[in-house]
Amino acid sequence: GFKMGIVGLPNVGKSTLFNALTRTAAAQAANFPFCTIEPNVGEVNVPDARLDKLAAIAGSKQIIPTRMTFVDIAGLVKGASKGEGLGNQFLANIRECDAIAHVLRCFEDDDITHVDGRVDPVADADTIETELMLSDLESIEKRRANLQRKLKGNDKEAQQQDRLLAQAQEVLENGQPARVVEVSADDAKAWKMLQLLTTKPVLYVCNVSEEDAANGNAYSAAVADMAAAQGNSHVIISARIEEEISQLDDDEAQMFLTEMGLEEPGLDRLIRAGYELLHLETYFTVGPKEARAWTIRHGTQAPQAAGVIHGDFEKGFIRAETIAYEDFVACNGEQGAKEAGKMRAEGKAYTVKDGDVLHFLFNT
Ligand code: GDP
Repeated sequence: GFKMGIVGLPNVGKSTLFNALTRTAAAQAANFPFCTIEPNVGEVNVPDARLDKLAAIAGSKQIIPTRMTFVDIAGLVKGASKGEGLGNQFLANIRECDAIAHVLRCFEDDDITHVDGRVDPVADADTIETELMLSDLESIEKRRANLQRKLKGNDKEAQQQDRLLAQAQEVLENGQPARVVEVSADDAKAWKMLQLLTTKPVLYVCNVSEEDAANGNAYSAAVADMAAAQGNSHVIISARIEEEISQLDDDEAQMFLTEMGLEEPGLDRLIRAGYELLHLETYFTVGPKEARAWTIRHGTQAPQAAGVIHGDFEKGFIRAETIAYEDFVACNGEQGAKEAGKMRAEGKAYTVKDGDVLHFLFNT
């Protein structure tokens, strides 16, 4: 699955948000084998109205949404890269994440101390990014030192790694994150394998007060500008509202949202923004037993998409019977789609599209 690491300075609302996310998820998971992993890891259903529609048409007994993992990475403070706070241990946690959800304090409240004594989300973002850049620099130096022996042996892979590390080092030493390095298609894979923290896509989460939840405020507007300039994205959320919603049942939550001028929970927007940031898409498997959603990256081919379900599906892949979501709905299900000639047999080279309803045939 895909993993978002939640980071941010102390007292910005991380735990409030994380607890709301996981409490909502726990409630949603009533009919789902819920995996409690660790206290700071939460799996959250990805809301998708299409899945419910498919299940209704097929009369599926069970609906299983696809999931996204959130990891609460506490302890990021100034000096973390030098081992302050939880230091390096938590930097390692970030390394394992596909993207970073960076919570920024965009609310004023004299009762809640700001670690640097003022509300300034853009400066806060900079503080955290500086720690990540320092951490990248340190790991690059170590890795380049470790590559020395292989470089003497003319190892091609080591040469490529060292060249990319050197490029990253140069921009970092100039005070810029590694994401500004332009990488050729040939180097893309090796670049990704370096897992540098400042190359991870960032989703800024502007935590605003309840009154500003619908339209944001001057702080969140400043974050929006920064995010756009970096090629990152942002969402506006009130952690306090999410906290309240997580304690209400569905009807009450809907009423509360309407009162606040919101169409949907911030959680839904957060997950969707994460999906977009990571270029993720969803395909479905639909039958009488269950209707289920699966997550893939944009551009994934049919065998690899099958591999998300099970490695054997990928290894023994023969073909994928494919119905587009719209056709499945318009033809009122698989049988109708088949009769209308809307079911395609797609082979190994097929690039799965968002919303495809797939049935895999494979050798065991
Ligand atoms: P963390 O240290 O980043 O995990 O921050 P917490 O989630 O523990 O929040 C710190 C304090 O700020 C708590 O007392 C929260 O109730 C409060 N808080 C969180 N979000 C908001 C908000 O939008 N407005 C106000 N006034 N307080 C908030």
